[in-house]
Amino acid sequence: MKAKALLIDITQCVGCNNCQAACKEANRQPDTVENRLTPTAYTALQEYEGGVYVRRMCQHCKEPTCASVCPVGAFTKTAEGPVLYDESKCIGCRYCIQACPFQVPRYEWSSNNPRVRKCRLCAERVAAGQPTACAEACPTGATKFGDRDELLKEAYERIRNNPTGYVHRVYGVTEVGGTSVLYLSAVPFEKLGFKTQVETTPLPALTANAMEKIPGVVTVGTALLYGIYWITNRREEVARAEGGPAVLRDKLTRGSDDHDGHIGHGK
Ligand code: SF4
Ligand code: SF4
Ligand code: SF4
Repeated sequence: MKAKALLIDITQCVGCNNCQAACKEANRQPDTVENRLTPTAYTALQEYEGGVYVRRMCQHCKEPTCASVCPVGAFTKTAEGPVLYDESKCIGCRYCIQACPFQVPRYEWSSNNPRVRKCRLCAERVAAGQPTACAEACPTGATKFGDRDELLKEAYERIRNNPTGYVHRVYGVTEVGGTSVLYLSAVPFEKLGFKTQVETTPLPALTANAMEKIPGVVTVGTALLYGIYWITNRREEVARAEGGPAVLRDKLTRGSDDHDGHIGHGK
């Protein structure tokens, strides 16, 4: 099966929230409206000035950092596109939460048996040849499911056909090495809270390159130390985004999973 993706055209979104409602139904989550990512909201709509709505969700990175830092292999990237999480393997270290460049995964802090929660790109539906529930429910075509290559072609075509109606960029083509969720917008992405300065090299490759520069054989110990160093840096980055280390420390102590409601596309 070819790699699948979602194309989210922000110019076509009317803020009806059907995508979240369909997602919640597909994932048997409580039928409440939530405007930030939570353990019970794998996608959330955020409203910006001028009635612009942005869907936040897991980007299903081509080379997911969450998977690369997970010490027990609880995250896997499938050939079709979904990045999946296996709760039976998870040891609750939450490295994935710290490592995600888009601050997507949420943790069930209030549960006795907490899991990491995020969008699954409707993996079972996709495997059965169906569109994701959110794409199927979207009345305007603002969320479209299909082959990534074709969606990308279509995205560039939409920009070509309406050059004044879009910024000339498809978000998700190169960011962190490419993602399975692509965005089109009429408003510059940085004004909509997207991280526009993210690396274009996959983040797992960056850590691997850094390790290659270490002379001699890279031992498991070295890799582990480097991993801890990298995670610490990411923690600080997350803390800065959230208002400083004190805030992060406080949140970790209190057990909050709120990463500001935005999926870390920067602010
Ligand atoms: S957006 Fe974050 S959680 Fe989703 S695949 Fe990428 S690194 Fe993993
Ligand atoms: S792809 Fe599926 S799990 Fe992800 S946001 Fe859409 S409906 Fe929810
Ligand atoms: S269903 Fe489509 S139009 Fe409605 S809020 Fe979601 S993306 Fe926007």
